[in-house]
Amino acid sequence: MFKHILNAKIGKYQAFIRQKMLEDQIIRRGVKDGMVLEAMEKVKRHVFVDDYLKTRAYEDQPLPIAEGQTVSQPYIVALMTELLALKGGERVLEIGTGSGYQTAVLAELAGEVYTVEFFPALAEKAKAVLAFESYSKIRFRTGDGAAGWPENAPFDAIIVTCAPLEAPETLLSQLADKGRMVVPVGEAGGAQRLMLYTKDGADIKERFITEVRFVPMLANNR
Ligand code: SAH
Repeated sequence: MFKHILNAKIGKYQAFIRQKMLEDQIIRRGVKDGMVLEAMEKVKRHVFVDDYLKTRAYEDQPLPIAEGQTVSQPYIVALMTELLALKGGERVLEIGTGSGYQTAVLAELAGEVYTVEFFPALAEKAKAVLAFESYSKIRFRTGDGAAGWPENAPFDAIIVTCAPLEAPETLLSQLADKGRMVVPVGEAGGAQRLMLYTKDGADIKERFITEVRFVPMLANNR
């Protein structure tokens, strides 16, 4: 009984901190899409990090997860999601499941989410957390995301949360007409260029958004 009251109080406190994160980190920096803001307010970032990091889950920074990887800064998650311009019902491909936090934000907004992770241990953990949080329209795969998910292409939106050296052609080829892909491109260790690609018939439009720092896109043979 006491534990129940305590949990309700903690839940209210976390919702309050999330509201503050939304205002100070995300709205203040210019994210406007109402659906994205709602998703960022709703998704509990603290459930995607280890116990020792839970009190820091809504800070303005990336946080470590297993396998030497990171969960992105909340603002970057919001910015990249806004760039996908989801309206609801889309089929989305995510490369780099990691903690599953970005996956949850996508699942709030899209119809179907396909997510690929390099490390089986991360994929397993994210799958368990997302199931516990009652997300049902997510499909998981372990392997090199550079190959995309050809069986279920084309995708209305593709989001890459690890940095390849160049814009991955294979992923661009799995984008639907009018589809959008957001990806950080460049060398690991320094800043990369966050790029937005929009497919328009046979044309692909390219737009530089901002500089970012992501973990590298890994591969067995690279
Ligand atoms: N979106 C994640 C961010 C995780 S960091 C989150 O919200 O937590 C980037 C992730 O990309 C890491 O988990 C890393 O293991 C994964 N990754 C790196 N190279 C990859 C590849 N070639 N294919 C799929 N995933 C990859």
